[in-house]
Amino acid sequence: MSEAEQKDTPEQAEFRAYVRKWLKENRPAKPGFRLPQSPLEVMTEEQRQYLCAWQRKCYDAGLVGVDIPKAYGGGGATDKRQRIVNQELGHADVPFFINVIGLGMAAPTILVHGTEEQKRRYVPGILSSDEIWCQGFSEPGAGSDLANSQTFAERKGDMWVINGHKVWTSLAHFASWMILLCRTSRDDKYKGLSYFIVPIKGAKGVTVRPLIKITGETGFNEVLFENLEVPDTLRLDQVGNGWNVAMTTLLYERGAAESAGGAERSLTSVVDRLVSLGKRVKRDGRPAIEDETLRDRIVQFAIKGEAIKQTFRRARVPALTAHPMRIPLQGKLIGSEFSQLASALALEIEGPAANYYMGDPKAPDGAAWPLAYMNSYGITIAAGTSEVQRNILGERVLGLPKSK
Ligand SMILES: Cc1cc2nc3c(=O)[nH]c(=O)nc-3n(C[C@H](O)[C@H](O)[C@H](O)COP(=O)(O)OP(=O)(O)OC[C@H]3O[C@@H](n4cnc5c(N)ncnc54)[C@H](O)[C@@H]3O)c2cc1C
Repeated sequence: MSEAEQKDTPEQAEFRAYVRKWLKENRPAKPGFRLPQSPLEVMTEEQRQYLCAWQRKCYDAGLVGVDIPKAYGGGGATDKRQRIVNQELGHADVPFFINVIGLGMAAPTILVHGTEEQKRRYVPGILSSDEIWCQGFSEPGAGSDLANSQTFAERKGDMWVINGHKVWTSLAHFASWMILLCRTSRDDKYKGLSYFIVPIKGAKGVTVRPLIKITGETGFNEVLFENLEVPDTLRLDQVGNGWNVAMTTLLYERGAAESAGGAERSLTSVVDRLVSLGKRVKRDGRPAIEDETLRDRIVQFAIKGEAIKQTFRRARVPALTAHPMRIPLQGKLIGSEFSQLASALALEIEGPAANYYMGDPKAPDGAAWPLAYMNSYGITIAAGTSEVQRNILGERVLGLPKSK
């Protein structure tokens, strides 16, 4: 029995048994097409349909939004059951939930800052994946310096007219809605920002253009707004309070979320996958795993993975977290760098065979590792680069002097 299980209350243990059984009995059949490695690379309509159907099925079984109040479409639990689902999803090796921005960022932000009406209207569709969400924060001149956002919303009576250019917008090609940071005044960098929920799919005044990544795939986009008109009821929180609302989103995006299918999931199986790869790939005519240097590298990596797991566990011990976000805020940084290390190590294990790419029958594991290696750089940039994340930890957690 795992340590997490030992700590379950009788009710939680019963729920865990249900989740485990349900996942075992309802694992979806492998599709006849390639599934992407993460929600940020979903490209085709058949991939979207398959992944939406899976999230919907899990939602109907009570595995998504478990801790969210029933009035907003959730399960209404009050004892951290989403964490149990996330742990079991990790063990079950099932597909991910496609609506990652909705689950991890939009829903938590709406639950903190939205009106009662907004919560009731938007959260259920996020949980079920009936409505896919995207995030319009970054602009060509405002990534790390997010407060420099220039997309402008001008008030016209009960309406807002939005003009501007967002970029790197993951999932916008499937999105019904976007969480959008806009400038509503040029007088003050921070207080001149407001936060909106805006329609994307089929909306007049919105153009979504795909961007191609180093992998040759897409998944994110440019989004252009030309006189998009939205009612004031789509504003989240007060005019001029957009920066504070955005900070809530970023807190969840960068590690605070206990959203469905979260960070612990990816740590669970990666060492096993590397060992399995080492057994199958040959080096000098022998399985690569028999090379002492590589074995040692895998063991070092496994130790690092274990340390990360223990760090996440420490986050649940109140006495160890004088600053409440101290450990969760490390999640995005260490998780993304760990994944990068994993794929780099996999390429070493594969040796020259790592040069075969997708579509080549000689590529080990269908070229999953070279693809993961290239994707891993995007993950250390998305949601704030590793450099910026280190600055945040230094300034806000360790109290070091602010960077200029
Ligand atoms: C795969 C992927 C998905 C994304 N999805 C979305 C999305 O859905 N929605 C969205 O809004 N955005 C998205 N982004 C954008 C992402 O949030 C930005 O790329 C990121 O915030 C960095 O901003 P930038 O690209 O403008 O780089 P810049 O801010 O121009 O940074 C360039 C370099 O300078 C460094 N740097 C900048 N400032 C500092 C500093 N103060 N101290 C030290 N170093 C610094 C950075 O670390 C980086 O190496 C995505 C990006 C990627 C790669």
